[in-house]
Amino acid sequence: MISRLVVASKNPDKLLEIEQVLGETGVVGEIVSGLDWPEVEETGETLEDNALLKARAVMEAVGLPAVADDTGLEVAALEGRPGVRTARYAGEDATYEDNVRRLLRELDGVEDRRAWFRSVVALVMPDNSEVLADGALEGVIAESARGSGGFGYDPVFEVEGVTLSEMGMAEKNKISHRARALRSLADVLAGR
Ligand code: IMP
Repeated sequence: MISRLVVASKNPDKLLEIEQVLGETGVVGEIVSGLDWPEVEETGETLEDNALLKARAVMEAVGLPAVADDTGLEVAALEGRPGVRTARYAGEDATYEDNVRRLLRELDGVEDRRAWFRSVVALVMPDNSEVLADGALEGVIAESARGSGGFGYDPVFEVEGVTLSEMGMAEKNKISHRARALRSLADVLAGR
């Protein structure tokens, strides 16, 4: 059990999901919000590197246990791209919409639309101990965007005919890459 923890993300969409899933695991007493820290550059070569970079920097800045996630989308027909470049797929300052547009363009006319999300979560404690866990979700890239929930590539990521944007957050959190990674982290912490 960790009495107080900070989520090392300034992305409100991600924060909400992480807070809900971690809250349900029962391994965290309080998720502290309202803190600030300098921007962390994601310069790592892997999801593991970037999750650790973020969690270490935020733990150092605020002095509390910090959990960070880094997520990549891997598309079979694109040989695993965009992968670690998922956030910047359409360029450095790309919006969610820009990235989705580029993905749909690259897959125009492509029959094999299989894709995977993979999330790595890193927990860094003030004594510098670290725990890593990961989770994945398999799906297909839809022909066009559908739904209004979620964020990022959710409108085009389809699982059993439904895009993640068409599900509510509770449904997404039952199956998502991020939720799976966080529950796996919680199992390690609880010794399950
Ligand atoms: P990062 O983990 O913040 O580096 O996220 C990389 C990018 O992946 C984000 O900008 C989003 O576009 C996308 N992404 C991350 N998680 C999700 C998700 O759960 N659904 C859809 N897109 C996501």
